[in-house]
Amino acid sequence: MAQEKLLLLKNIRTKGYAADLAAYRAAGGYKALEKVLGKSQGGMTPAQVTEAVKASGLRGRGGAGFPCGLKWTFMPADPKDKPNYLICNGDESEPGTFKDHYLLMNDPHLFLEGMILGCYALSCHHGYIYIRGESMYLIHRVRKAIDELYAEKLLGSNILGSGFDLDLTVHPGAGAYICGEETALLDSLEGKRGQPRFKPPFPAQAGFNGCPTTVNNVETLANVPFIINNGPEAFAKLGTEGNSGTQLVSISGHVQKPGVYEVEMGHNLKSLIEDFGGGVRGGLKLKAIIPGGASSPIMRPESIDIPYDFDSVMKAGSMRGSGALMVFDEDTSIIELANRTIRFFNHESCGQCTPCREGTFWLKNLIRDFVDNAGSEELMQRVDRVAGSILGNTICAFGDAAGAPMQAFGRVFPEEFRKHFLR
Ligand code: SF4
Repeated sequence: MAQEKLLLLKNIRTKGYAADLAAYRAAGGYKALEKVLGKSQGGMTPAQVTEAVKASGLRGRGGAGFPCGLKWTFMPADPKDKPNYLICNGDESEPGTFKDHYLLMNDPHLFLEGMILGCYALSCHHGYIYIRGESMYLIHRVRKAIDELYAEKLLGSNILGSGFDLDLTVHPGAGAYICGEETALLDSLEGKRGQPRFKPPFPAQAGFNGCPTTVNNVETLANVPFIINNGPEAFAKLGTEGNSGTQLVSISGHVQKPGVYEVEMGHNLKSLIEDFGGGVRGGLKLKAIIPGGASSPIMRPESIDIPYDFDSVMKAGSMRGSGALMVFDEDTSIIELANRTIRFFNHESCGQCTPCREGTFWLKNLIRDFVDNAGSEELMQRVDRVAGSILGNTICAFGDAAGAPMQAFGRVFPEEFRKHFLR
């Protein structure tokens, strides 16, 4: 039976719960911060921290998988006219994803230590943590953890006598999927309606309030203490080539044991469902999976005996995304799944681009015809054509996130569409 590989969930698995500062410190927490900022161990420069993260091969865990250390090098090393900002994207709105919530709720200091290290690496003196407003319990949890840090002088002025000053602010979002897109998040943080921006300029050039900004995901930052404590090589040797470290996977749907599991990058996808999810519930057969949240294309059971990492899942025609593995049994209606998916994307489109705004609207209407048993071969082709016309023609990646799964439903399960033709 496969076992978890615990880097991020170690405290949670061994202690059950490590939400306060005392418990986190008792488990060895804030050692990485002492190594970097403390005088006793010689300390590390911001450039050395960035170099360690770069050498570890850590890729962003929010969905796109962009190399974290490389992203950090895009920021000015010595900001003078404008401040640098590090913003944590804790919005986590992709349907099927709940691993960042799990981490923040049960071990917030692991993430906060990574956030402080990230701010230091980027010469940032005020960081923001953006969390969906509906998740008020999480906002309370993280604010409480931040209060503990101020009380222990691990935040504020002259942290650990290093001369480094840092304030952290938790900002509740108003609850829109699109605010998980980094530039829409920045608009929302500035008090505007959250809408993606044209790029360039990229956030590292002109982000929050026009200042150089990096946006990182919760899980991404939570990996930084391990990298500093154990060295980048220890992280890089885990996982597969180009996909280092461990990953948190949110397994949901028709499995016996839904939940968040931590495995090495490249762990077998089938094993995730069988060994961790406990297999399909009720003795039913597996019909389909969606490997990386609602925006990733659906897959058939015969395609899933592959490593679960960014590159392998993409090679198999889908996306690992944010690690949201959704499992569907043989009784699932693929048409109803397509219907719910497109209704979601149509509702969440910000409406700035015609292909996304109109395309998701017409896709919703087309899928409705199949739900009403009024489909046809011609309408199936139209679904494919309309979805294809969105791809690559929009301001932000939402267009692809809506179009690609809609094409996949028809291409991977054409027989399910044909069951709903007009007879
Ligand atoms: Fe808005 Fe959709 Fe255009 Fe993104 S692709 S900017 S969500 S309309």
